[in-house]
Amino acid sequence: MVQYFKIMGSGAGPGTPSFFCDCPGCREARENPATARTRSGALIATGQANILVDTPPDLKAQLVRERIERIDEVFLTHWHYDHFGGLGELEYYVKLSRKDRIPLYLPPSAIEQFFAAFPNLIEVFRVVPWGFAVQYRFGDLTVTPLAANHGIETAGFLVETPRARLAYFPDTAGLPAPTALRTEGVDWLVCDATFYGENWFPESHMSVAEAIALGRRVRAGRTVLTHMSVHYSEPVTSAELAAAVAGHPGVSAAYDGLTIDL
Ligand SMILES: [Zn+2]
Ligand SMILES: [Zn+2]
Repeated sequence: MVQYFKIMGSGAGPGTPSFFCDCPGCREARENPATARTRSGALIATGQANILVDTPPDLKAQLVRERIERIDEVFLTHWHYDHFGGLGELEYYVKLSRKDRIPLYLPPSAIEQFFAAFPNLIEVFRVVPWGFAVQYRFGDLTVTPLAANHGIETAGFLVETPRARLAYFPDTAGLPAPTALRTEGVDWLVCDATFYGENWFPESHMSVAEAIALGRRVRAGRTVLTHMSVHYSEPVTSAELAAAVAGHPGVSAAYDGLTIDL
């Protein structure tokens, strides 16, 4: 049975390249599409089920790129456009292929906003509010929403199998104490590193340096930086970023399609 966690997108809200930006990072991504970063999302393959974590606006391109042909569950971290904007991309999959609504686990505070924004998707999703610290079980793999620091109600997800523990926190500024305790010693921390250089939003995001420090604080085996914007504050290319993290053992930068065996 193959169980894995896959980064579907590793970019922050504007994506890389952004259509309106000509920084060195965006220029690099235009010249070499392998360094492009679509908006943040992930896929957990349990062996029996494919679970999408977030539905960014780039969802269709991500599913085609990774040759994912089946979606069984969807969990959203929070109700920001870069994480929910691709919900409608699942409409034709449900109507033409799956022919059954997909369970959609939402932050409790986002339920009303979902129905207000997407009245046309009521036939596509069976909406379920997730609960913090509730363990959702898929065979021997569990997914547990844990509180993040991101202004609005936001979860990161702790993914656990008998072999590995992985914490995915694409949007957070550090971790609330109970969350840090629960993620202590994870094999993998995949976390928000939106800013290279100065952090413009220290209440809701982290910089590369802060993400590396968080990984050390929770004693993560490996820290993987994601939700990266290469054009905020200090623009950076993928090549420069790789060189900058090379001096930190156990730290690496995510890329679209990165797969971690669980
Ligand atoms: Zn957000
Ligand atoms: Zn985001």
